[in-house]
Amino acid sequence: MEIIVAKNSGLCYGVRRALDIASETRQKKAGKVFTLGDLIHNPQVIADLERQKIHSINDLDGLNKATVIIRSHGASPDIYRLLTQKNIEIVDATCPIVKKIQKLVEVLAKDKEEIIIVGDKEHPEIKGLIGFSQGKGIIVENEDQVKSLPNRKRRAILAQSTQDLYLFEKIVSALIEKTKELNVYNTICRSTQTRQKSTSELASCVDILFIAGGKNSSNTNKLYQISKRILPNTHFIESAAQIKPEMLKGAKKIGISGGASTPPRAIQEAVAKIKASFKHQFHREKTVQCQR
Ligand code: SF4
Repeated sequence: MEIIVAKNSGLCYGVRRALDIASETRQKKAGKVFTLGDLIHNPQVIADLERQKIHSINDLDGLNKATVIIRSHGASPDIYRLLTQKNIEIVDATCPIVKKIQKLVEVLAKDKEEIIIVGDKEHPEIKGLIGFSQGKGIIVENEDQVKSLPNRKRRAILAQSTQDLYLFEKIVSALIEKTKELNVYNTICRSTQTRQKSTSELASCVDILFIAGGKNSSNTNKLYQISKRILPNTHFIESAAQIKPEMLKGAKKIGISGGASTPPRAIQEAVAKIKASFKHQFHREKTVQCQR
């Protein structure tokens, strides 16, 4: 039996950076420190942050004399304005890659009729991007939604940094039919693309694949969908406890991958749980990186 961990799984640069900024901020500031929304879509890491007295808030009402950390997803200009009006100190942990996408949206808003942003409408990165679009942004979540869009002369299209490349390409193809001049910006970040590629390669070389991460993590959900398309025997797990010995029956190669917000600990716990499940059946196991 082999356990194969996908290359590039686990925390991305932007999330790791935001976590470091949060810890540094906590050390420097004596007062209250909040993150606007969960810093990371992972319940264990959120619990760790709470222990460090870095609390997550969703509502700015009644907030004063505090420091607020903007997470890696970024936020809309309205949020920065509101915090400034309230004299709240802002620590900006927006991922530099997301900052570039925000800047792109801002520039495109000056001369495009419409900016199509492919992403999840409830995702904080998308809510932030829409805020930079001067009312010209339209969120598209799937190919079907393109059908209801009118024909236009000039449009731009870009994607949430963690979008599924396959879906983005399908939406671009559908939109070409309805647009005379379509400017396509592939803003899916490199870390997301390599993670998706490694996970799909792994899905095609194992018998079962576990995608570890928080259920509310958009990019982990995308990894799950990508893997499920290739390998129906793909399971989304929020913790190692969800791996049951009966799931592993007959499997010779077991894969594990994790999203941009999945801490290394979650992957290690999943590996340990699988090893423990096989221990009593006298199998040998080795943990290797996928070689494809
Ligand atoms: S997925 Fe990419 S763009 Fe998004 S936070 Fe991570 S590194 Fe930044």
